[in-house]
Amino acid sequence: MTANQYFSDIFKVAKSILVGMGITIKYFLTHKKTVATVQYPRERDHIPPRHRGIHYLETEKCVMCWKCSEICPVDCIYIEGRRGADGPLPGGYRGQKATLSKFTVDYTVCIFCGLCEEPCPPKCIFLGPGFDYSATDRTMMEKNLLTDQVYTEEDEKFVQWARADAERLEREKKESEAKKHAGEGAKQGATP
Ligand code: SF4
Ligand code: SF4
Repeated sequence: MTANQYFSDIFKVAKSILVGMGITIKYFLTHKKTVATVQYPRERDHIPPRHRGIHYLETEKCVMCWKCSEICPVDCIYIEGRRGADGPLPGGYRGQKATLSKFTVDYTVCIFCGLCEEPCPPKCIFLGPGFDYSATDRTMMEKNLLTDQVYTEEDEKFVQWARADAERLEREKKESEAKKHAGEGAKQGATP
């Protein structure tokens, strides 16, 4: 960098500061109207009724049909759990004829389109008024709608346990069916 360029840059910066400050001082001296400010986060501006913000789930109504996650254009809803004849999942979150182990939304990819609300049969997932979900780490941007908190390592441990338990049930079911077929085969073989 030459000396000329160096002093020219200093001049440009000083000029732009003076121009900016000139506008500020002019506004300060001539503008009489007071401007109301909001003491965020203690005070919040009015949120329009149709605002699409952070999701909330009425878990007790959820039938675990996956329609919301299937329609999501960016695949950012994760649902796991147990329903039907396998009975409730101990420690899970009770829905309608279903027990959920996981129901999260990944806010690093959600585009707040609201499509997930539409196909839900019991109308239990909504985009609410919340707008300030933030974190210092991307891994904290997955929200657990079952606890209304960030998805934690403890939550993940429970989900993994639930998966293993589902596999155990499936294995036991297959073994019992195999035994049943073997029993029927033996009976038919013994019939004269
Ligand atoms: S608002 Fe849109 S992008 Fe976000 S979870 Fe729902 S369907 Fe997916
Ligand atoms: S569409 Fe509704 S009922 Fe079905 S899994 Fe999603 S939130 Fe639950």
